Amino acid sequence: MTDRSYLQQLRTPTAADPLRILMSACLAGVTCGFDGTANGEYPSALKILQYNTVRVTRFCPEDFSFGSPREMCDIHGGDGFAVLDGKAKVLSDSGVDWSAGMIAAAEEMTAVALRNNVELAVLMDVSAACGSQVIYEGNRFAPEKKYQIGAGVCAALLMRKGIKVISQRDYASLELLYAKIDPAHQMKQDAKDHHEIDWYKSYFAAQIS
Ligand code: SF4
Repeated sequence: MTDRSYLQQLRTPTAADPLRILMSACLAGVTCGFDGTANGEYPSALKILQYNTVRVTRFCPEDFSFGSPREMCDIHGGDGFAVLDGKAKVLSDSGVDWSAGMIAAAEEMTAVALRNNVELAVLMDVSAACGSQVIYEGNRFAPEKKYQIGAGVCAALLMRKGIKVISQRDYASLELLYAKIDPAHQMKQDAKDHHEIDWYKSYFAAQIS
């Protein structure tokens, strides 16, 4: 769940003093996805790049540790916080333990974020590295793939270091961000964050009721 009060209180940036945002590199068009693509286009994230009131730092943690293209990977036995605590593992599709590499990637991403003094991270949801609201529970290619509420490893470490994270699917939060970086932006009042959409409320009904 995103912290909208934080977004409401964000300062109003200018071109001379832009808002410092960390983005999953693939959301910013870098072809760092597992298959060497940018994982599709997400207009909600690409829009951020249009403003001179924003300074975007792009980083792909999986590319940092595993290169591109690479296998897919998922978290088994918990979420990204559990991986950081040694209680869950990141496994590649072929079953190789990528936990250490993913933790190294998380540490590097966090170092980049702190070095650039970022004020917000906008990350690709559902990724074992960058997911912040929803991730897979175990292998995404299992016959009955499952999702869980939780963060990927890199998003989890960013959060632990006090960096606020939203995803490209948190449309209500993004509306607040657009309003900060563009004084002319007309807020869409019916926009919803990922945890507010019908699929989320239905899929996780047992957990959130
Ligand atoms: S690790 Fe993050 S930045 Fe890299 S491709 Fe996956 S979601 Fe995108």
